[in-house]
Amino acid sequence: MLSITHIALGATAAHYTQNPLIYIPISLMGHYIGDALLHWDCGTGLENGSKSKRAAILQELFELSLSAVFLSIVFFNQSDKQTIHILIASFFSILPDLIEAPKNFLGKDLPLLKPLNTFHAKFHNSTPNMIIGFTPQLIFLFLVYLLV
Ligand SMILES: [Zn+2]
Repeated sequence: MLSITHIALGATAAHYTQNPLIYIPISLMGHYIGDALLHWDCGTGLENGSKSKRAAILQELFELSLSAVFLSIVFFNQSDKQTIHILIASFFSILPDLIEAPKNFLGKDLPLLKPLNTFHAKFHNSTPNMIIGFTPQLIFLFLVYLLV
């Protein structure tokens, strides 16, 4: 799933709960559940070689920039305390992908991280079809925009 979608889920959980004991587990579990849904993301195509690592990295950096813009627009009127919760939740919502980044982008599956990456990989359910894999995420982001 796209980072922006993971981040939107975690930030929304933090916005409504402001309790790290609640929003951190929601952010992490939400990541795996989101990855289990059929989706398209920046890593789609890396496994079969249809996308280069360079292209995936550039797409991911662009998408993380969009995530920052999205957070700024949707959660712009939060207090400093709420903003910290939203940033913490955002970090945890993409933590599994951050842990996997050295493997995906540098080809280094560090032994310490391998069990986590193996667990993470069990959830991935991606499609190269951008319409099928992207539309539900856009709808979710629009709902977050409307409801927060
Ligand atoms: Zn993931």
